[in-house]
Amino acid sequence: MNNSDALRIETVLNGLRYEKTGKEKDADLIVAVACSVRQSAIDRIYGKVRNWQKEKNKRKLVTVLTGCVLPADKKKFSKVFDLVFNIENLPLLSKMLNNLEEANVKERGEYLKLKSMHSSGFQSLVPIMTGCNNFCAYCAVPFTRGREYSRPIEDIISEVKELVENGCKEITLLGQNVNSYGNDKKDLPNFAELLSKINDVPGDFWIRYITSHPKDMSDELIKKFVQCSKVCGYLHLPLQAGSDQVLKNMNRNYTYEHYKDLIEKVRAEKLDIAISTDIIVGFPGETIEQFEDSMKAFGEIKYDMAYIAQYSPRSGTKAATFDDNVDKKEKKRRLKVLTKILAGTALEKNKKYVGKTEKVLAEKFEKGLLFGHTDSFKLVAISGGSKNYVGQFVMVKIISANPWALEGKCL
Ligand code: SAH
Ligand code: SF4
Repeated sequence: MNNSDALRIETVLNGLRYEKTGKEKDADLIVAVACSVRQSAIDRIYGKVRNWQKEKNKRKLVTVLTGCVLPADKKKFSKVFDLVFNIENLPLLSKMLNNLEEANVKERGEYLKLKSMHSSGFQSLVPIMTGCNNFCAYCAVPFTRGREYSRPIEDIISEVKELVENGCKEITLLGQNVNSYGNDKKDLPNFAELLSKINDVPGDFWIRYITSHPKDMSDELIKKFVQCSKVCGYLHLPLQAGSDQVLKNMNRNYTYEHYKDLIEKVRAEKLDIAISTDIIVGFPGETIEQFEDSMKAFGEIKYDMAYIAQYSPRSGTKAATFDDNVDKKEKKRRLKVLTKILAGTALEKNKKYVGKTEKVLAEKFEKGLLFGHTDSFKLVAISGGSKNYVGQFVMVKIISANPWALEGKCL
């Protein structure tokens, strides 16, 4: 989402005749897009802004902060940035830069109408909703992005049509919880229907989406993403913890049994679908036995990929009031243990690709190799291509595999 926001900010600044520069020292305006999911990201911004403060003594420089900023951080940052604004007020950036004071737009989600400067013409991020109603105990998002807001379907479809007509090959639909698309307004279709409508847009392109929530994953949706030919064979379904007690403490509203059932249903519809997850180790109070439930889940589900995070408290969230009692060393150990199980299952999955021919979207050409992803989101390093293939689908013979990537040859 922050990436997508950065591209929208670029559009607005371009409209205000600002030009992008690759070097911080050449900039006369710096906009930082914060991410509150990890404290380390916020700490990095504190470090950067201290340098920018010094730069201001030498030259004209305006510093701006937006993105996912918790109210407590916003207060502190307001003292060191020239302007701190809520991303929903982006349409008023010009006005705010003139006054260096935050102004407020009337309608929520208005900023999603701003077309983004797409980082590459062939891959695009399309937000379908913003905000979250779930209040998972560890998470800053409901505090930084507010309640769920679904974008009107006409706006989404017309953006997708325009992108595809301009050569886009991969559309990634973005939302904190894409499965609850449409729940906040009476006249909107649900996410399964939205997928179907996007699938009907003519053209040769792939559809991806992040993130799904296990509590809102309906049977209709499971069937739909298999029926829709352009929807990729890849599902990212965050588990967060294998223990039911930890899931309850996290306020996730599902059990491991329910999660496992969902995975079984998905695999019954599409056996070779790739599945990835997010998981947190060392949530307050997570005992060794409860952590072992996460290990067991990794062993049973056999993930293709996982984003394993060590718990870190975010101020203002419910979990920040809990005792963060799993020490850093133990969190690191738990992360390592899960990474090891993942490396085994990921290798097992990846080996199945060896000898097969896969359609790959070529994304970049570096040091004589093409790099891209399969529809199941496997990274492939490809020989026998050239930079002319970038942005195109190519057919690739897979010749070897490791846990984190495949190697192949252009056909
Ligand atoms: N909406 C998505 C995830 C949003 S945040 C969902 O519901 O799954 C992305 C990931 O960051 C989360 O899935 C979680 O694993 C991790 N995360 C969020 N807050 C965290 C925290 N306080 N400590 C550690 N990891 C966290
Ligand atoms: Fe955060 Fe939970 Fe909402 Fe995801 S569903 S954004 S983890 S509160």
